[in-house]
Amino acid sequence: MKLRNNSSRNGHLSEEIDHLRKYSLNRNRKFTIEQLNKPVSFWIKKERLLNEIGKEFTIILRTKGCYWALEHAGCSMCGYIEDANIDNVNSQQVINQFNYALDKKLEEINSDKCSYVLKIFNSGSFFDDNEISEDIRCHIYKRISIIPNIKEVTIETRVEFINKNVLKEMQKYLENKYVELGIGLESVDDYIRNNYINKNLLFDDFIRVTKLSHEMGIGIKAYLLFKPPFLNEQGAIDDCVHSIKTLLNFNIDTISINPCNIQKGSLVEYLWNQKRYRPPWFYSLFESFKEALKQEDFERVRILCDPSGSGSKRGIHNCSSKECNGNMKEILQNFILNQDLRELDSLDSECICKKKYDIQKYQN
Ligand code: SF4
Ligand SMILES: [Zn+2]
Repeated sequence: MKLRNNSSRNGHLSEEIDHLRKYSLNRNRKFTIEQLNKPVSFWIKKERLLNEIGKEFTIILRTKGCYWALEHAGCSMCGYIEDANIDNVNSQQVINQFNYALDKKLEEINSDKCSYVLKIFNSGSFFDDNEISEDIRCHIYKRISIIPNIKEVTIETRVEFINKNVLKEMQKYLENKYVELGIGLESVDDYIRNNYINKNLLFDDFIRVTKLSHEMGIGIKAYLLFKPPFLNEQGAIDDCVHSIKTLLNFNIDTISINPCNIQKGSLVEYLWNQKRYRPPWFYSLFESFKEALKQEDFERVRILCDPSGSGSKRGIHNCSSKECNGNMKEILQNFILNQDLRELDSLDSECICKKKYDIQKYQN
């Protein structure tokens, strides 16, 4: 699919982001050869699988970075370009990164009784040949295909790189795994997505690739950005509830809610420094789940939410109390692992910050 000639972009906002991004790109640090042969990071931890509690094995690969950030300023909350090596990372180096992580964890995975989801992230698009070439993708598929404990595989990509050919190529190797394409939809509202987030993506195009993927037996994981810039808490709740309900109607397999966090070099960071943005409160997130979902919905959708920096001032948080944020994190984790709405009401007593929140909820 050709890009829509920026027709769905907000000119002024993208200029602002472009300005900040250029600054960030100018000071983009060089990585050593050793660093380019190892992934940005990788880990194993508990995660909700489709039908059970299992584990995730996540590998974050370093590539040249997301073309949308490099060439068109990128999304307003995104600072992933800080991890990229914009002078390019060659194919062998990306393969070495993947091998390094997998070889370190293979024995643990093979000897585990749990099922696994493998998440391969590259802070851009897995199907963009300039980031991850066909050779790299096939190498990765081949290695995954022979690991029985890996039942699910998730990759991330922008919509414009999804087509029948890349999906067929993937299926050739991974026919015995459940595969999901993670897509940063952020909101079902075209205005919010393109004017506040600068995503350059239309909902119709998201639905088009959803249909194609479903026809081919491939699942869709839609990411929603919880509290984009320029929305207050109530606005964030309304947007999230509307988005979840709409995605349920389109039979999206997994909805992953990402509470907005303050990433380096992003427009959101600039607004946050000026006290024009505050990351969301946990109270708003829980209210959205309760309003948007009924327990029977979990028979056809999986809800995920694993917020970066939660409890800190750069991530989703309530007041400054460790106990208050700790309780919220625990409730959220139990809700996700068990896919049970009752977990959201399991707090014994409310923190005093709830009163402050109730006042702030409608303020800008
Ligand atoms: S959020 Fe995704 S699409 Fe947007 S700039 Fe970041 S990596 Fe690229
Ligand atoms: Zn509190």
